[in-house]
Amino acid sequence: MPKFADIVFPTAVRSVFTYYIPSGSEAHIKPGFRVWVPLRNYNAIGVVVRVHDEVPEFKTRPVKKILDEEAVLTEELLKLTEWIHRFYYCSWGEVIQAALPAGLNFVSKKNLRVSDDQKRSPNADEEEVLDVIQKENLGLDEAKKRWKGSSYNKVLQSLIKNGAVEIWEEPDIKVSVKMEKEWSWAENKGAEKAHDFLSELERDENKWQLALQKLIESGLPKRQSQLVRMDEMTSYSIKKLKDEGWIRSREVEAETDSLTLDHNPEEIKSLNKDQESAFETIKESIENNEFENYLLYGITGSGKTEVYIHALKTVLDKGKGGIVLVPEIALTPQTVSRFYRIFGDEIAVLHSRMTNRERLRAWKDLKSGAKKIAIGPRSAIFAPVKDLGLIVLDEEHDASYKQMDPAPRYHARETAIMRANLNKAVVIMGSATPSMQALNMAAREKSQLIELNKRHAEAVLPEVKIIDLKQYRSAMKGELAVPLYEAIKKALSTGEQVILLYNRRGFASYIQCETCGHIPQSPECSVSLTYHKKKNILMCHYSGYSRKADTRCEVCGSSELKIQGMGTQKIEEELADLFEEARILRFDKDSTTRKGAHEKILNKFGNGDADILIGTQLVAKGLDFPNVTVVGVIDADTEQAFPSFQSTERMYQLLSQVSGRSGRGSKPGTVFIQTRQADNSAIQFAKKHDHKGFSKEEMGFRKPLNYPPYSRLITFVLKGKKEYQVSSSAHLLRNTLEKVLPQAEILGPSSSAIGWMNKNFYWEVTLKIDPEKGANYIEALLTKVMEIYESENQVSTSVVRVNINVDAIR
Ligand code: ADP
Ligand code: ZN
Repeated sequence: MPKFADIVFPTAVRSVFTYYIPSGSEAHIKPGFRVWVPLRNYNAIGVVVRVHDEVPEFKTRPVKKILDEEAVLTEELLKLTEWIHRFYYCSWGEVIQAALPAGLNFVSKKNLRVSDDQKRSPNADEEEVLDVIQKENLGLDEAKKRWKGSSYNKVLQSLIKNGAVEIWEEPDIKVSVKMEKEWSWAENKGAEKAHDFLSELERDENKWQLALQKLIESGLPKRQSQLVRMDEMTSYSIKKLKDEGWIRSREVEAETDSLTLDHNPEEIKSLNKDQESAFETIKESIENNEFENYLLYGITGSGKTEVYIHALKTVLDKGKGGIVLVPEIALTPQTVSRFYRIFGDEIAVLHSRMTNRERLRAWKDLKSGAKKIAIGPRSAIFAPVKDLGLIVLDEEHDASYKQMDPAPRYHARETAIMRANLNKAVVIMGSATPSMQALNMAAREKSQLIELNKRHAEAVLPEVKIIDLKQYRSAMKGELAVPLYEAIKKALSTGEQVILLYNRRGFASYIQCETCGHIPQSPECSVSLTYHKKKNILMCHYSGYSRKADTRCEVCGSSELKIQGMGTQKIEEELADLFEEARILRFDKDSTTRKGAHEKILNKFGNGDADILIGTQLVAKGLDFPNVTVVGVIDADTEQAFPSFQSTERMYQLLSQVSGRSGRGSKPGTVFIQTRQADNSAIQFAKKHDHKGFSKEEMGFRKPLNYPPYSRLITFVLKGKKEYQVSSSAHLLRNTLEKVLPQAEILGPSSSAIGWMNKNFYWEVTLKIDPEKGANYIEALLTKVMEIYESENQVSTSVVRVNINVDAIR
C-alpha cells in the first residue's frame, strides 16, 4: 500500500509536495483525487498526482481529508497536464486548474472564529467586531466587504494579528446545483388509463382534465421546464394532476440552456470526390486506432467542415468520442449548429460565456460518456471526453489557440498533438491559410498533408481590388478611398450588405511614409519599429535597438511621415456621416463583452436588420452572410506594422479571411484592400488567393533570420514597479542565458512593446532554441537558468516578476 502522496497546488510554485497518507486511507487516495492538506500555516486543496512508498528526507504532514469519490482527472489528463507543466514551464497545479471546470477546482473559503483565548479585554469597537463575527459566522471576505472603508476593518486586522480572531479554512467545493422536477406517470397510471378515465366522464371536462387530455395526445414530457411550456399546463392543473394521483415528480438536476441552436436534424452530406479521398485517408487511421496528425489544407468553402463531420461520425460509430476546437469567435451558433444538426445531443458546447454551473454540467456529461463530442475554444482541449478518438483543430493558424496570460501559456495545437498521442487518436488541423509551423511539420513529415483545392459546387472566390492610398490622397471620403466609397453606396442602394474591417492592435503606434508607404524596420530583427511618443524614438522590441524618430523617410527621402495606429474608433462616427441612411453595427471586443451580445449582433446582421458591419479582426473570421457583396479593409498596413516576426503572416491571414466573407451567396463579391504598400508581396499574394506562394516566400524570409518554425522562441517578460530594477534584472537574465547557453541566439533585453501598463514596467528577453527539443530539455534548461538568475539577483522575485512564455507569439 502506498504511504505517500505527491500533491500539487494552483500556485506559481513548480514544486510537487509530499504528504503521508494516514493509515486506513491508503486504498482511497489515488492520483487525480483532490485532497485537503495543511500547507505552511493554513490548509489548502491540492490534487494528488502520484502515490508511492519512497520515504522523503523531510518530515511529512498528513492528508487531512479526501474530497472526491472518484478521480477528477483521469490518468491520461494527468499525463497531459504534466507535459504542459514541463514544456511550458509552469506549475502542474496551474495547468490542472485550467483543465478543471471552476466549480471543481481548488476553491477554499476562509472563515473567521473568535478565539477561546482572549489575551485582554476588548474595547468597544473590538467588542462590536467580535460580536458580529460570533453571531453571523462571517467569512473573511464577507467581513472585509462589510467593513470596507470603515474603521472596523482596521480593528478586525488587529484582532487577527493578536490572535483574538482566528482564520480557519475549509474546502469550498460545492457548486450549487439547480434542481428541477422530473415528472412521470404515477404507478399504475398512464396514457391509456387516462384515456379510459376521461372517456367515462359525463360532464364537461374542467381545466385539469383538459390538461390530462393534452398529456395523452402529446405525451408527458419529463422536465418541469418542458411541461410548463405546454399550452394547458398551468400551475393549477399540474398540481391537480398530481393531487388526483396521475403524475408524480422527483427532484433532479436541472438541464441548462445553452446556445440557441438550430435543432433541425439533418442528414450527413455525401462527400464529393476530393473530400472523399481526404476522408478515406483519415478514416484508415481512425479505424486502426493509431496516432496520426493530418494537416487538412483546403481553401475556404472546400468543405473541410464536411470532412470533420464524417471523421467524427466514424469515431462515434466506433463508440469513441471527439473534441472539436474552434477559435472562440467562431463559436457562433452558425458553426456549432452545423455539428449540432448532425450529432444533436451527443455534443457538449463549451464557451466562455457559460456559467460555472453550465460548465460543470457539460464536464460531467462528457466524463460520464453521456455526451461524446466536446466543441469549444482553446480550453476545450482539456474536455474529459471518454475514449478520445479524434481531435479537430479548425482554423489551425488562429492566434487564439495560444494562451498568453496568465499561465499556463500553452498552445492548443501542440497540446492537441500530445493528447492525441497519449490516446492513439487522430488530429485533423484544418486551415485555408496554415501557419508556418503547421506547414513545416508537414514538410518534416511530422504531419500528413491533405489538400482540398476546389470550392464545393460553383461558388467562386471574390475579386480582390487593391487600393493604393498613396494615389488617393486627395480623393478620400474620410478614411475611405473613392472606389470603396462608391462600391458601398452601390451595394446599399441595391439592398446588399457591407463588412468593413479596421484593425486596431491596441497600444502599438508606428511611423509610415505617406509618399512611399515605408514603415521603418529593425535592422537587427526585421520587425517593424514601434514609435514612442514620449521619448520621440523608434524602437525594436525584440532586440532593444532604438533610434531617434526619423524626420525623413529612409527609403525615398520624403518628409511626409505620419504617425499611425491610433484613433480608429472614430471610423464608426465618420461612416454614420458618410452614409446617413445606413444602419451600422459595430462588432469588436468592447461591443461583445456582455453575455449574448455577440450572437445578437450577428443575428441582427444576418437577418438583414443592418447594412454595414464594422469591426476589428473579429469580423474576418468564420462568418457566413450570403448577402454581403462588399468587404473593405480600411488599412491593411496596421497588421504588417505590428512589432512581431509574424506580422506579415497575420496580415496575409487576415486579408485572405476577410476576403472569404464576400460573395458567399449567389451574388459575386468584391474585396477592397486599402494600403500604402500596394507592392507588398503579401498583399499581392492575398489578391491572388495564393497562400502557397506566400508561405514559400515567408519561409524563405524566416530561415536566415532563424525565426519559427526554424527555432522556438522562449520569451521572458519581466515586470515591476521600478524601471531600473526591471531593466537590471533583464540584463542579468540575459547574462545568465549567455552563461548557460553560450552558443544560443538571444534577443534583448528591451522594454516591451507595452512598456508601461497598470503602474508596471515591462522588459523582455527572448531566447531562440532548437525547435526539435522537447519538454525534458526545456524544463531542465529553464530550471537551471532561473536557479542561477534568482540566486544572483539582488532584486527579490516578488519585486520583479518573471513570466516565461514558451513558443511566444503575438
Ligand atoms: P470550409 O469548412 O472548408 O470552409 P464548408 O464545409 O463550410 O467549407 O463548405 C462550404 C459550403 O459548401 C457549405 O455550405 C457546405 O455545406 C457546402 N458543402 C461542402 N461540401 C459539400 C458536400 N459534399 N455536399 C453538399 N454541400 C457541401
Ligand atoms: Zn518613403
